[in-house]
Amino acid sequence: MSLDITPDPSDALRPLGWDASFRSSFDEIVARTPGASRAPARVVAQHRGRWIVARAEGGGAALREEGAVLAGRLRHAAATAEALPTVGDWVAVVPASPGGDAVVTDVLPRRTAFVRKAAYEVAAQVVAANVDVVLIVAALPADANARRIERYLALAWESGATPVVVLTKVDLSDDRDRAVAAMRASAPGVDVVALSALTGEGVSALDGYLHAGRTAVLLGSSGVGKSTLVNRLLGQERLRTSAVREDGKGRHTTTHRELVRLASGALLIDTPGMRELQLWDADSGLDTAFLDVESVARGCRFRDCRHQAEPGCAVRVAIAAGRLDGERVNHWHKLQRELAHLAMRQDELAAAAERSRSKVIERAVRVHLRRKYRS
Ligand code: GDP
Ligand code: ZN
Repeated sequence: MSLDITPDPSDALRPLGWDASFRSSFDEIVARTPGASRAPARVVAQHRGRWIVARAEGGGAALREEGAVLAGRLRHAAATAEALPTVGDWVAVVPASPGGDAVVTDVLPRRTAFVRKAAYEVAAQVVAANVDVVLIVAALPADANARRIERYLALAWESGATPVVVLTKVDLSDDRDRAVAAMRASAPGVDVVALSALTGEGVSALDGYLHAGRTAVLLGSSGVGKSTLVNRLLGQERLRTSAVREDGKGRHTTTHRELVRLASGALLIDTPGMRELQLWDADSGLDTAFLDVESVARGCRFRDCRHQAEPGCAVRVAIAAGRLDGERVNHWHKLQRELAHLAMRQDELAAAAERSRSKVIERAVRVHLRRKYRS
């Protein structure tokens, strides 16, 4: 007796984090836009203008990786960089023909997204998509800068994923307990893990966040030890979502964003170091990151208290009593101003775009009238 079992592509994709809700998003997209036969795939690496996606091989249970480019429609319709695929995204692709690239036709709605403001322009940059855990990495003793971590935390909370602060290089710190306690005060409600990627001390504490089929992203400045940590987590043998990959030899170095699969089955997105992290639409993330300050501020006499010279300011009372850190409160103000400034720039640009749109329409109407009434 033989059983005829057709392999379900969902089985192959499950180790990459695929589930019923992504599947229904995919089915909806395919139903809405009939066309070439498409397959679901996950973006596992990103190069300039080219992506590497992983999908079920021939509808079967094995995975294959292939290069992918954007469908013209997606390239043109994507008015913002935010709409383009990024590592961690689930996408619909027309699979590659032999020797060619796959074509990404759609990006599935993201469950979570870590978004920052792009440098030099008023635009969003999606650093990683569909992550469950954001590992914010800082190195002891020097880099464990509370102010920088507060920035990361605001964006991490905004992303929809759960942040964890990872302090590396504990082997170089002579007072780890104090450093961890100081970081805890800047990260209320967030787990803080201290480890050494060099000696391996404390690394097992990450097991609790790296579960099979769940996705974590490593974020932090360059030099904090992200690559060393990835290498340690990967162990001797570099596990890939598939064996086919042109660049899979030697020590792991991050030159671009990339998603790797750990022995535990967890998925880890590695990113290049970020020089600066500017906030992007993170009002609620900022509120969550500063929940302690927010809750004290609720006790101020005036609802619009700026916590400066107003009478009955609970925040200033808390600072004076040592219950709130004055520097942390100042940084909270600074980040709020940054978001307000960003919102203003966005409004200005939207207004300018609106003006140029109406100019285009006016011109078209003028041309039309001139043609109509000429001679
Ligand atoms: P990345 O830029 O964040 O990927 O940082 P790297 O992993 O390249 O590490 C930068 C430097 O720090 C390298 O020289 C590493 O050997 C060193 N390093 C990384 N992790 C540790 C650690 O836990 N302890 C010590 N002492 N050095 C580390
Ligand atoms: Zn106040």
